[in-house]
Amino acid sequence: MRHLPVSRRALLGGGVALGTAALLAGCGTETAPAGARLLRPGDPGYDAAVSSFNLNQIPRPGTVVQARTADDVRTAVGDAAARRAPVGVLATGHQPSSPIGEDAVLITTRAMRGVTINAGRRVARVEAGALWGHTLTAALQQQLVPLHGSTGTVGVVGYTLGGGLSPLLGRVHGYAADHVLAIDVVGADGELRTVTASSDPELFFGLRGGKSNFGIVTAMEFGLFPVPPLYGGAIMFDGADGARVLHTYREWVRTVPETMSSSVALLRLPDLPQVPEPLRGKLVANVRIAFTGPASEAAALIAPLRAAATPLRDQVAQMPWSGYAAIHSDPTSPTPAYERTALLRDLSEDAVDALLAAAGPDAPAPVTAVEIRHLGGALARPPQAESAVSHRDAAFTLFIAGVGGPEQAGSLKEAAAGIVRAMQPWSTGGMYVNFMNTDDTSPESVRQAYRPEVYGRLLALKKRVDPDNMFRLNHNIVD
Ligand SMILES: Cc1cc2nc3c(=O)[nH]c(=O)nc-3n(C[C@H](O)[C@H](O)[C@H](O)COP(=O)(O)OP(=O)(O)OC[C@H]3O[C@@H](n4cnc5c(N)ncnc54)[C@H](O)[C@@H]3O)c2cc1C
Repeated sequence: MRHLPVSRRALLGGGVALGTAALLAGCGTETAPAGARLLRPGDPGYDAAVSSFNLNQIPRPGTVVQARTADDVRTAVGDAAARRAPVGVLATGHQPSSPIGEDAVLITTRAMRGVTINAGRRVARVEAGALWGHTLTAALQQQLVPLHGSTGTVGVVGYTLGGGLSPLLGRVHGYAADHVLAIDVVGADGELRTVTASSDPELFFGLRGGKSNFGIVTAMEFGLFPVPPLYGGAIMFDGADGARVLHTYREWVRTVPETMSSSVALLRLPDLPQVPEPLRGKLVANVRIAFTGPASEAAALIAPLRAAATPLRDQVAQMPWSGYAAIHSDPTSPTPAYERTALLRDLSEDAVDALLAAAGPDAPAPVTAVEIRHLGGALARPPQAESAVSHRDAAFTLFIAGVGGPEQAGSLKEAAAGIVRAMQPWSTGGMYVNFMNTDDTSPESVRQAYRPEVYGRLLALKKRVDPDNMFRLNHNIVD
């Protein structure tokens, strides 16, 4: 086994370039043009390398490998295996899970952002660190769209390995993971393989839904779709009208076609100058719409929602696809947040009442956002190549985010847990793995992300491809 040749002197000089040639020669060099950079705590660049979108759990690994190529990832995993060190992966830090501490090797993929679009095949190939923002831009240049999420700052690979729930096209085409064609992954044995439905069906099954439990993905190929028309945006209602809006929404959502994607969120907007009046400092009920059917049908379909109460702001209109991020207006810069989630089988009258009691205008809950996202359509249908993405029978996701730092952790976590408890009677008992966070890392919670038979298969796969559980710094599949 090779060890990364890291001298303290070289590290203090700003990091070591780990080209394969340099490794084999047994000496790192700061001037090598290519190769991963290796950093330790205290090194210049270490803090930037481990910086994360969620500021509440910053990794503090003993070793950071800033990978530039698949070969860098292979070398880093091989070295960690020799030292029996756990291996984590960081693209953006949108989804912290198990703490990443001194004993760990953290592979960062931010220098691996290549995106190639094959317009003829309608296929994208992205490197491990590609973000949805620039992947979408590249696809749109060819009049194609991927099954991206609500914001461009999320990593394509992490999102897709957890399922990938597009709030624009999921109900039409299913999960992003359903359209993956090939995955390049470095396994616990340090080997780089291209995994497809025919090369290793069980590993292909597990990777799509199992996140980083089976290796570090270096690149991925997936299908793209012609760009449909988009009629979308957000309608903001005063929180005081929350009951009328949510009850209208739960009835309306049963009637809509698969081309209508939507969510409703109770948002506590901060009392800050950057929030325009009349929204500043308010609790609002925010309905998000993405309709990808004929524009001529859009206004009539949305009319019942618009009539639920007098909107504070209504920005739903025909829009270019590139403007999609305005539908959800997710934060675009790093934020401290605590998150919880559940899957709901139904949004009945009682369920809405329970949600309003726990998170509505009269509830003391200090959480920032409580979102109900409509599932169904193609998300409920089995994919062509089966995958570990489970709970396709769920009708809605529940997602709760409390923005605040460690000093507010107690109250935010307690409030979020209270909302999850209040919605328990309508829960499927499952969870959507991409929405799970630091408080859902226990073995019991991780089991909830998968159907029991899927979890059994994932456990067997884990024993086959990662028997020492090297890839455990995640929502970990364990016995
Ligand atoms: C504001 C916001 C909006 C979101 N919107 C959506 C949405 O619309 N739909 C949806 O489905 N999800 C959404 N998510 C959840 C998102 O999909 C997950 O947080 C996802 O894990 C982010 O991946 P990342 O690589 O950006 O994050 P990171 O925190 O860097 O990675 C998270 C995990 O992904 C896995 N991973 C990342 N890269 C690799 C790799 N190269 N190899 C193996 N495993 C890897 C690892 O398990 C890693 O721990 C959203 C999250 C946020 C915070």
